[in-house]
Amino acid sequence: MTACAAPSDAMPAPSANELAEAERQGDATPQAAPQPKPAAEPVAAPSFTYDGELTQGGWIKGEVPEGTVTASLDGVALEIADDGSFLGAFDRDSGDTALLVAQLEDGRSHEERLVIAPRAWKIEHVNVARGTGRSSEAWWKKREPEWLAIKAARAKETNATGWRQDFIWPVKGRISGRFGSQRIYRGEPGSYHSGLDIAPGAGTPFVAPADGVVVLAATGFSLEGNLLIIDHGGGLNSAFLHAQSLNVKEGDAVTQGQMIGRVGSTGRSTGPHLHWGIKWNDARLDPLLFLPDAQ
Ligand SMILES: [Zn+2]
Repeated sequence: MTACAAPSDAMPAPSANELAEAERQGDATPQAAPQPKPAAEPVAAPSFTYDGELTQGGWIKGEVPEGTVTASLDGVALEIADDGSFLGAFDRDSGDTALLVAQLEDGRSHEERLVIAPRAWKIEHVNVARGTGRSSEAWWKKREPEWLAIKAARAKETNATGWRQDFIWPVKGRISGRFGSQRIYRGEPGSYHSGLDIAPGAGTPFVAPADGVVVLAATGFSLEGNLLIIDHGGGLNSAFLHAQSLNVKEGDAVTQGQMIGRVGSTGRSTGPHLHWGIKWNDARLDPLLFLPDAQ
């Protein structure tokens, strides 16, 4: 058995003489008779090209098919750059497939189903009741405006193009908490850890992992403490929590590697560390999947 069988309905390939004849005639010479299209080379269906981390909390970058007007990933609209590039991503709790859809200018649509690898999240069962301290009316009175400010910041559209870059570590240090880990309190799941914790020591400067625009620079938030949110464009943004101090303000454009603050322990934090969360639209992502392996 051959390793790669040619399609049995293929037209015979043109002979060398026929090809040579066609070349001599050149493009300007009208053909006497229409040439049948060889069946072995059908007009390729337009398709997405992409590469990335096809797993829960991961992402893809690629290009939409030629002639795409709009495109979506599991129903979420993709922002398509002028050159056809796009970013898409998969929530921590993404199902095992995701659907890429392109609407083409000729009225057709094109679909591709992606297979999303599951992750083995660190789940810890603890024999204590889940805390309820955050649900009191007094707490929510302080919390609500903070929550609204974060929501509004994340909805801001900027023209940042950092989503195209390979991210760098905002700071190097011990990993003190991983994205996605979760505690189960006497059978009741707590919310999972929404970011990556890096603990290099209080006062250590941290930098922008990619280009972006500061959409929130807040101080004294109940949970986040001093909080920076940077929009990287393409629906992608980074949040940095518990900072000792912030070096940038809302509206500032930042470039990859630029110092943006110092690591601290403000807000609800048990020790100095940088909590870095990444979102693409509503999907929460694993920062480690954006980084080179080595610190
Ligand atoms: Zn954290």
